[in-house]
Amino acid sequence: MAGDLLKIPGVGHATAAKLQRLGISTIADLLRHRPRRYLDRSAVSPAAHVKDGQWATVIGVVERAESRTSRRSGLRVLEAVLRDESGRIGLVWFYRGKRGWGPTRPPVSAGQRIVASGTVKWTPYGPTIQTPEWEPLPQSANASHPLSPVPVYPLTQGITQSQLRRWIHWALDHGDVADPLPERIRRRHGLLSLKEAYESLHRPKVLADAEAGRRRLAFDELFAWQLEMARAAQERRLTPAFVCPAEVLPPPAFAAKLPFSLTGAQERALARCSAMLEEPWATAALLQGDVGSGKSVVAAYMAARAVLAGHQAALLAPTRLLAEQHQRNFQRLLAPWHIDVALLVSELPAARRRELAERLAAGEPMVVIGTHALLSPDIRLDGCAVGIIDEQHRFGVSERESFARKGKAHLLAMSATPIPRTLALTLYGDLEVIALDEKPPGRQPVDTRWIHPKDRARVYAFVKREVGRGRQAYVVFPRVYGDDEQDQAAVTQAEELARTWLSGLCVGLVHGQMPPEQQEKVMRAFVEGEIDVLVATTVIEVGIDVPNASVMVVEGAERFGLAQLHQLRGRVGRGEHPAYCLLLADPQSDAAKRRIDALRKTDDGFAIAEMDLMLRGPGEMTGLAQAGPLEFKAAVFPQDLDLLQAARDEARRLVEGERATR
Ligand code: ADP
Ligand code: MG
Repeated sequence: MAGDLLKIPGVGHATAAKLQRLGISTIADLLRHRPRRYLDRSAVSPAAHVKDGQWATVIGVVERAESRTSRRSGLRVLEAVLRDESGRIGLVWFYRGKRGWGPTRPPVSAGQRIVASGTVKWTPYGPTIQTPEWEPLPQSANASHPLSPVPVYPLTQGITQSQLRRWIHWALDHGDVADPLPERIRRRHGLLSLKEAYESLHRPKVLADAEAGRRRLAFDELFAWQLEMARAAQERRLTPAFVCPAEVLPPPAFAAKLPFSLTGAQERALARCSAMLEEPWATAALLQGDVGSGKSVVAAYMAARAVLAGHQAALLAPTRLLAEQHQRNFQRLLAPWHIDVALLVSELPAARRRELAERLAAGEPMVVIGTHALLSPDIRLDGCAVGIIDEQHRFGVSERESFARKGKAHLLAMSATPIPRTLALTLYGDLEVIALDEKPPGRQPVDTRWIHPKDRARVYAFVKREVGRGRQAYVVFPRVYGDDEQDQAAVTQAEELARTWLSGLCVGLVHGQMPPEQQEKVMRAFVEGEIDVLVATTVIEVGIDVPNASVMVVEGAERFGLAQLHQLRGRVGRGEHPAYCLLLADPQSDAAKRRIDALRKTDDGFAIAEMDLMLRGPGEMTGLAQAGPLEFKAAVFPQDLDLLQAARDEARRLVEGERATR
């Protein structure tokens, strides 16, 4: 119930507004707010025995707490000394004093008994923990009693960890939790009740509790997904679609008029798509393949079949730039059959739009390619026999289905972020999953190198040289704005680079927090060659074909998932020039190092997706989630494959039951 947050002691309207920024508007949302991680305090170290670089938890009394400003760096340093029976350890917080924000006194005060955790750093003054996680301890708590893990939550400005913990505890004690999952399903898979799950998640006694809580929430998430998939599949089986007989355009006849010969994978894909189009009900397939694997050809085949059978085909793309690119590509591929390929975007002048809408409504056989504008109610596509969705994860399931339902269409959903076959089959069990796992010949591999950040100057000298030869380059940063010391942020670095190493070049900037029209404007300028170097965040993942771009520089490469890095690399090497992917990384963890090595060894998106599942270090997010096609919050793979299967079976059972009683 909205507004019920105000029942929590200490939460007023102002706080409720802040919580909203975290997506929390009800007590139920508060309970669903999952910790980002936990502080494991099962082992407490004596202050005298901590080692450099170690993650440690220390219990003690704050001896002093003070602040000073470093004259050299302008940093404000807040310091405290924590003492236990064995010795002392420093606690340090830094703030950029120059900007004049942040507290002026340490958050702890002398005499306070606290537990502090963090990574130990050795300094000339002895061991310290920088920016420790800490909480006050009652005088009675003693170190021989194991300390429970402490949840660490995603925060927003003006809300602290301890406040959030306090409110969540209140919600656990006072909120009632209705469990939507039938008990028999829970029992069958050994899952906690929802109330137990929240308790375990927010107040675990040991880390295993938190994991059990997470699994329950993961099941809910996977079950909801599988239900949606199963219902959509059921619906499709009952929905008629236009038959587009193979005689109008057998795959070999199509292939014969292409400017190249098909890969084996493309031939197999065409055969399966051909079979789908002979069905009288609404079939659907997921076409997976790396950027450049030739998905458009498969889509163009389906579109041609629809039109030659006297129907329409529509392709939905996430941006206007992509839609235009598809239009050019389809016009080229479908030229031998004189098929009309129209473009429908929201920028179209009203008169042109009306004219196109009328032709479509009249059922004129043609291909229409467009953006969200295609979904608008005034666009009728009754004659649509084939619906194609590019970058399908950019659209919701309901958008996908309503798109296909505009006509009597078979659906082809395309994705350039392959997921491993085993996972794909379970996840999308009711879809045809078609893989283009073979690259067209003649493509040169991208020279992928791993470069230490101390050699950054060389990297940018190289970029400058490539631009001098007429090429273009991307530089990708892990974040939009910076808030840490090694400022790996696109916004500040774009300026910095333009002023220093890349001076004299035209440097553009695009990131996900810019309005979409602005993003598109910058991308267009890059496509048209007005911008030499495009500084970006991962928004360019779902991007655009710029054959002239020959260098991809990834700053802070250790912060990206494997699949993501692979995606980024796919942006270059699309033209005739040799291409380079330069990964600037100082990998702290072994997992990060293995990821980068893997990338250097293979160029196959499917192999990389498999490795991405396996190569995650503890606590690292799955690259799949980062890359977009599967935005699960609680579920992680491969650990939860069993849950996924369970969720699928239960969802099918439920949907079949619904049909039986209908
Ligand atoms: P995707 O959509 O999977 O990223 P495209 O379908 O756009 O890939 O294909 C990338 C490029 O490769 C296009 O220029 C296309 O014409 C070309 N191409 C596709 N299939 C083949 C093939 N079998 N042989 C040679 N070139 C191909
Ligand atoms: Mg494509």
